[in-house]
Amino acid sequence: MRRRNFIGLAAGVAVANALPRRFALAAESPSSGAASADLPAIGRKGQQLVLRGSDIAALSAGLRGQLLLRGDVGYDVSRRVWNGSFDRYPALVARCVGASDIVQAVNFAREHDLLLAVRGGGHSISGQSVCDGGMQIDLSPMQSVRVDPVARTARVEPGTPLGQFDRETQFFGLATTAGTVSHTGVAGLTLGGGFGRLCRRYALACDNLRAVDIINADGQLRHASAKENVDLFWGVRGGGGNFGVVTSFEFQLHPVDTIMYGGAIGFPGSRMRELMKFYRDFTATASEDMHLDFLIVTVPEGQMIIIDAFHGDRKRAERDLEPLRRLKPIIDEAKAAPYVDLQKSFDVNAPWGSAVYEKAGFVRGISDALIDDIAALMERTKLVGTQVNFVPHGGAVGRVPTTATAFTHRDATHSLLLRSGWNPTDKIAAEVASRWTIENFTALEKHTQGFYVNAIAADDTARRLQSNYGSNYQRLVDVKTKYDPNNLFRRNANIPPKNAA
Ligand SMILES: Cc1cc2nc3c(=O)[nH]c(=O)nc-3n(C[C@H](O)[C@H](O)[C@H](O)COP(=O)(O)OP(=O)(O)OC[C@H]3O[C@@H](n4cnc5c(N)ncnc54)[C@H](O)[C@@H]3O)c2cc1C
Repeated sequence: MRRRNFIGLAAGVAVANALPRRFALAAESPSSGAASADLPAIGRKGQQLVLRGSDIAALSAGLRGQLLLRGDVGYDVSRRVWNGSFDRYPALVARCVGASDIVQAVNFAREHDLLLAVRGGGHSISGQSVCDGGMQIDLSPMQSVRVDPVARTARVEPGTPLGQFDRETQFFGLATTAGTVSHTGVAGLTLGGGFGRLCRRYALACDNLRAVDIINADGQLRHASAKENVDLFWGVRGGGGNFGVVTSFEFQLHPVDTIMYGGAIGFPGSRMRELMKFYRDFTATASEDMHLDFLIVTVPEGQMIIIDAFHGDRKRAERDLEPLRRLKPIIDEAKAAPYVDLQKSFDVNAPWGSAVYEKAGFVRGISDALIDDIAALMERTKLVGTQVNFVPHGGAVGRVPTTATAFTHRDATHSLLLRSGWNPTDKIAAEVASRWTIENFTALEKHTQGFYVNAIAADDTARRLQSNYGSNYQRLVDVKTKYDPNNLFRRNANIPPKNAA
């Protein structure tokens, strides 16, 4: 049976902005944005500002990249983010091509007390990488990947999508953990943690960081590693974009076969209780090469269950997956395939422009009570485009000590995600679908402890975030206070500095 677009951000939901992207960039002409007129803008704390035309023109003249204003060619390409439910208009977009551009943009935002958003791959689910009325630093022109096959390391620029990173490293038979949708950005994913098909074998993307170059709120470019600016290096591994703009990531790579094994294995939704119990028991003892994403999705005909199966060792894959196949799936697409193709296999279900609302939490084991609650919820759900998802952790993720990086939840066995999707132009559908996720996650939250900061929802509270970082929180506040004392970098899972002005 052919796989369908099961994540089901219902048919036709995608993608006002998907198509023209590459072509629009290619066609871009230099900005007309060296405007001499004054420009109204929004400040760091939401206050109204007026930016002087001469200041804007001076910034524009100093950049190697472009400074774009509303109406300029390329402005819409930058301001659009993956989640089509956010339609925001920054006053200025700095399309940066190098560190000097980023330093100037950060200095401009700080000196003018401007609201600032930083966009790497544009996949912030809560739309943090674009803002109304402030400045957006768009890093998407910066996409180089330099692999050192001998040292098994890679230097990656912050606008690079995961698929480009995978392609470059796999050319040399190498890879490191990257997420499961290839157009997601390396930058945001790594700074918040970074789960993916290889994480049970090689830990999180952030655990494979060897160093970063980062521009902090004072406009200084710093190198942070295990030897230099150690506190900052600790913070960027799980603390998100709180401390500055990362201009370069240095990753540890691993020898990784270019042919692996994987694909979707599907069952009717009527078997969800049985399948969740099987999944719990099966993943508890699974090989670290195996990564099984479990989804219950609502499609027009009802629910279906999709397990995105992945095995990093194709010789053992069929044997290891045999117990799952004995359950007689109605879809079975799992087979040996290039790793770079498997890394793209989910893309069709998450196109640019999808409008979604998501809430997530970590679980320590999937209890019978949680299975009952999810089954009861999904059995009564008719809303197409809703889904419940378990993502497996464990293995190497859990072997890193809790205090080694800012990422805290090493003992979680799975992430639990609730997501709803709708047509971005349909305001009523947006309200209904968001409410589905909020209300039902609230009912399930008692089974969770902490959440993934990269899945933070726009309405998550500071208190939820503080308790999320647990014993690492105070140390994060210290790092934040040192490198961003006035909370310039606030559009993220925000850690407020002490005594911010
Ligand atoms: C379709 C989809 C699939 C996903 N799959 C996975 C997955 O498999 N595994 C996983 O772990 N997560 C996954 N995520 C979540 C993902 O990790 C986050 O959405 C992440 O923030 C995306 O990074 P980005 O660079 O694309 O996002 P952006 O929207 O560009 O950035 C998000 C935030 O990161 C910060 N940021 C970005 N670039 C920089 C920089 N250079 N310096 C400092 N701060 C920066 C900013 O605070 C920004 O607001 C997925 C998200 C989506 C939408």
